[in-house]
This record gives sequence, structure tokens and C-alpha cells, in this order.
Amino acid sequence: MFAMRLIDDTGRLLRAAPVEFRAAEIELPYFGLNVLNHELLEALRASGAALGERVQRIEEPAVEVTLGEDRATVRTESGRTVSCRLVVGADGRQSVVRTAMQVPMRSWTYPQVALVLNFRHQRDHEGVSTEFHTVTGPFTQVPLPGRRSSLVWVETPENAAVLKDLPADRLSAEVERRMHSILGAVEVEEPVQSFPLSGASVQRLSGQRCALVGEAAHVFPPIGAQGLNLGLRDVEALLASVEAHRDDPGGVAMLAAYEARRKTDVATRTAAVDMLNRSLLTSLLPIQAIRAVGLGALATVPTLRHVLMREGVEPGSALGAVLGRARKLLPGRRASG
Ligand SMILES: Cc1cc2nc3c(=O)[nH]c(=O)nc-3n(C[C@H](O)[C@H](O)[C@H](O)COP(=O)(O)OP(=O)(O)OC[C@H]3O[C@@H](n4cnc5c(N)ncnc54)[C@H](O)[C@@H]3O)c2cc1C
Repeated sequence: MFAMRLIDDTGRLLRAAPVEFRAAEIELPYFGLNVLNHELLEALRASGAALGERVQRIEEPAVEVTLGEDRATVRTESGRTVSCRLVVGADGRQSVVRTAMQVPMRSWTYPQVALVLNFRHQRDHEGVSTEFHTVTGPFTQVPLPGRRSSLVWVETPENAAVLKDLPADRLSAEVERRMHSILGAVEVEEPVQSFPLSGASVQRLSGQRCALVGEAAHVFPPIGAQGLNLGLRDVEALLASVEAHRDDPGGVAMLAAYEARRKTDVATRTAAVDMLNRSLLTSLLPIQAIRAVGLGALATVPTLRHVLMREGVEPGSALGAVLGRARKLLPGRRASG
């Protein structure tokens, strides 16, 4: 994906200017790759298998997790038990690891359903993703190889139910209409899936001998393709924390390091995505005005756009760069090292 375009398609009086983010503006070849879920799972399975006997796969659900001071124990459906120094809860929204941690989870729902589908189109997408912001939520096309794209289409539950049942030709015509025909004629592929939108966050990401990653710890609406990436960064931070505390993975120091590495990114992403989604749904004029002014500033001020893009691809980097520049401007700065 070489570029991302945000278009205000709310039809409201206070509309934001279109904003285009180009990876080349911050000297990147691209922002990211749109990977199909089944292909990603297949690749993960293959890389797990390539590790040979170092990885043991148990194809059963975990039904109970017991957390002790020195070890955690996981019991599977058939009664098998596995004991270890660190258990990682990567088991999604209904995490049994989180239940064992007894950490409160704050969860909320949105009056929205996401329709998810892939489609073929007449014109090249040229590696550009277009997100239309509508009064029911975002309508986001993300490029796939060739003249194909994926679509996350957020609607009211009532509209989503009607759209999901449309015959393929009528649904294709509707997608083309909502895309303002920028990719020409559209042919929707089966299946069309739907997901009610919700959000959730936990107060802490770790407990005795356990750590949470991905949706076991944080859930938010599919805006700006943030969910999986946030989970991958959890895993990256977890590995770095284990690496730094090899003497006792799952010990207090390792878990504190993981918590410190992840807390801010998880909290800010959850809040930002929630705010952006709610700002689309609100009928309050002041909020619409703030949104329009904010996106307008991004469209016209390149520095602001660059900071946001850098922050998007590498959280914390943009702030670091701004502080670095500010430090250089401070009087009395001395060279070090
Ligand atoms: C409509 C929609 C569109 C999205 N689009 C994007 C996007 O474009 N980009 C993006 O980055 N993110 C996107 N997301 C978010 C992304 O799908 C999630 O962030 C991601 O799937 C979370 O991964 P996870 O592994 O934490 O959880 P999950 O994908 O839920 O995986 C959890 C796994 O744990 C297993 N499991 C559960 N319980 C147990 C148990 N007791 N024992 C053993 N195993 C168990 C499950 O079988 C499952 O395999 C989207 C989400 C939705 C709903």
C-alpha cells in the first residue's frame, strides 16, 4: 500500500477536506501489506512446523489456567496439563488466561456492524487505499494483488442485514456507487461476512506468570487497520522483555518490563480509534467542526501529516523525532558520547 486517502463522505454541512498520506513523503517504499487472514494463518502454521521438535502443538482448547508464584498450569479439554514459567494469553476476546488473571475488562458496544468482503474491479488501485468516512462509519477499500481489493464497510445493524442478503449483482452495484466508481465496475466475491462492532480494554496486561497479547487485552473497531498490528507489537515487546530477562521468563521483572513497553501504545491507540469512530457518528456540530479542522490541518500542513504517518508506522518514533529536534534547538546543548 503506497498511499492512503481519507474522504469525508458524510454529506454534512461541516465536512473535512480530503487527506492523502503517501509513503514516499516519509521516504518509505510502502506503509504496509494487506495480508489475507487465511494466508497469514497458513504462513504461521508453516513457520511453527519448521521449528520441528522445539514447538509442540496441542490441538485442543485450554479450559482452565492456574497461576502460581513460580509456575502456571494450563489444562486442556481432554484433561492434559502443561506447566510453564510463562503463559501467554493469545486466545482472543474470551480469553481463559485473562479469566484466570481476574483482571477487570471494560467493554463497550457500538451501534454498528462491519461487512467484510473482497471484490474485483475494473481499474487499477495503484496501491492506494481509500477510506470514505460516512455517517454510519468508515467504508474502507484496501488493495490486494491485481485488480482486487478488500472492503470493511461499517453500517447500522439494520442496513448491514439488508445489504448482506442482497444478490451479488446488486451488492456489487452498491459497492461501486459507494466507491463513487473510482475503481470502475465492481464484482463482489463470496463470502460476505459481518461482525458487530465492540471495544474492550484491560487495566493491566500481565499477572502472576502470565501476559496478554492481541484481543485478549484490547479490542477496537476496524478503522485504520490497527487491530492486528497492535497485537503484533505486543508480541514483539513480549519477546524483547523475555530476551532481557532470560533468567526468569514470567518473573516479576520481565512482566513489569512488558507492561511498561506496551501500556502507552495500547491506551493511545484504543482511545484514538474510539474517538475517530465516535466523531463520525455524532450529530454534535462542535465535534464535527473539530474533526473537520483537524483533518483540514492534516491536508494542508505537511509536517503535521509526516508526524502522524511516522507515528502510524512506528509508534513513539514521531514524538521521539520532535523531542530530538527540540533538544537540538535548546541553547547550551553539548555533544556527548
Ligand atoms: C471486521 C474486522 C476487520 C478487521 N480488519 C483488520 C485490518 O484490516 N487490519 C488489522 O490489523 N486488524 C483488523 N481487524 C482486527 C483483527 O482481526 C484482530 O485484531 C486480530 O484478529 C486479533 O488477533 P488475536 O490473535 O488477538 O485474536 P483472534 O484472531 O480472535 O485469535 C484468537 C485465537 O485463539 C483461539 N482460542 C480462543 N480461545 C481458546 C482456548 N480456550 N484455547 C485455545 N485456543 C483458543 C481461537 O481459536 C483463535 O484462533 C479486523 C477485525 C474485524 C472484526
